[in-house]
Amino acid sequence: MQLNFIANESVASASGRTLPVIDPSDGQVFDEIQRSDERDIDAAVRAARSAFDGPWGQLSAAERGRLLLALAAKVEQHVDELAALEQRDCGKPTKQARADATALVRYFEFYAGACDKFHGETLPYQNGYSVLTWREPHGVTGHVIPWNYPMQIFGRSVGGALAAGNCCVVKPAEDACLSLIRVAQLAAEVGFPPGAINIVTGYGHEVGDALARHPGIDHISFTGSPKVGTLIQQVAAERHCPVTLELGGKSPQIVFADADLDAAIPVIVNAIVQNGGQTCSAGSRVLIERSIYDQLLGRLGQAFEALRVGPAAMDLDIGPLIRQSQQQRVWDFLSDAQSSHIPVVAQGQIVDEAPETGFYQAPVLLADVPVRHRVAQEEVFGPVLAAMPFDDEDHAVALANATPFGLVAGVWTQDGARQFRMAKRVKAGQVFINNYGAGGGVELPFGGYKSSGYGREKGFEALYGFTVLKTVAFKHG
Ligand code: NAD
Repeated sequence: MQLNFIANESVASASGRTLPVIDPSDGQVFDEIQRSDERDIDAAVRAARSAFDGPWGQLSAAERGRLLLALAAKVEQHVDELAALEQRDCGKPTKQARADATALVRYFEFYAGACDKFHGETLPYQNGYSVLTWREPHGVTGHVIPWNYPMQIFGRSVGGALAAGNCCVVKPAEDACLSLIRVAQLAAEVGFPPGAINIVTGYGHEVGDALARHPGIDHISFTGSPKVGTLIQQVAAERHCPVTLELGGKSPQIVFADADLDAAIPVIVNAIVQNGGQTCSAGSRVLIERSIYDQLLGRLGQAFEALRVGPAAMDLDIGPLIRQSQQQRVWDFLSDAQSSHIPVVAQGQIVDEAPETGFYQAPVLLADVPVRHRVAQEEVFGPVLAAMPFDDEDHAVALANATPFGLVAGVWTQDGARQFRMAKRVKAGQVFINNYGAGGGVELPFGGYKSSGYGREKGFEALYGFTVLKTVAFKHG
């Protein structure tokens, strides 16, 4: 049984209630987590506050950096263990689970190095004055994390918050807690003081809501669905608590006729099948210049047919989806596409070894998807790629920007001037030219336009969001 981790101690929830942990590869229960409530959040917030007012707050920036570096090294020693936990908990193929654990190491390394390089400024003002800005931590930050990349999102959000000097209360998704509980234990082992990192598990509408409402939380970093992001924003607004929202996407890959298709095809396929398409930055639309539309669809179709789906431990192209309701969600989208006579170009295959009780979905390539169809507008959050043709650059930009989202875009063309024009005109927080980094790049600021959210995590930029700016003006004559 898994316990909460508060003030460096493993503790049961106040209610004593638990939730089952299900392996998506076979649908079977294999562990339990705590079903916490507002009492557990309160205990975690108190622990975080005393760490902030006490031992954590007294550390210099360099000392915080040293601890984060020690944690990076510790996580590196435990990559196999963490990857195995995440694999069982989330159904990730081995390569993906290891990539996530390795990314966590990089996040801690990056933010370890950033701690003592982040500072305020001196500003010009009237004669006889000296004016400085200080970057102060918020205090206690709340982190609500989704199930699709628990370790990576913990790394970018909690790593940045700790580097900036905050203490953290973390609410992992109810489907994906195991790796994060273990990481918090490892942090205690390398010397993080009690209360610097606290993990409280349970349902979003219970413990996530309690975290967002708690008056002792000074900033909320939320990564998840637009629907819950709206709720968090509303709750936080009641007490003017600052929020960073990392929400969904419907990211386009835009392929012009002069693109290097040999380079583009594997990247386009990977961007939608990585983690079974359960990726905020999945490249879930492919916009193709009409003169190469049939040719590229044919080649993408061949690549889709070669894809294999099966149990996470088999380490195939795609593992199971996270849970049965997610599988049902994908089926609903596909059934709507079928009712609208949207052609299926190709599908991958689920291997015979996949248990009937697991949550498997073959990848599907759809052609000629109307731009207003929900398959082209909403997050499917499964391995479904929607293709549509465009006539020229203006048309490509119009299609790319025609969803409520704006998280990531990929542009494939050899024309340098067009690369710049497209990068400027596409409304997305990250634009990749002749490559696509779904979720990649610890160093690269990440976040959305429009309903994909606001604020930036990852990179140095995240530290601005995890601090408050104070201006101090000295009059000395
Ligand atoms: P979700 O919104 O259902 O859940 C996210 C987290 O919020 C979970 O921990 C959940 O328990 C919690 N939660 C649910 N209801 C809550 C409430 N009322 N109050 C407080 N917390 C609550 O999202 P999900 O299904 O776990 O994740 C998938 C979504 O996350 C997709 O939309 C995806 O695009 C998005 N996502 C975005 C990014 C990004 O960086 N932009 C990264 C990963 C995932």
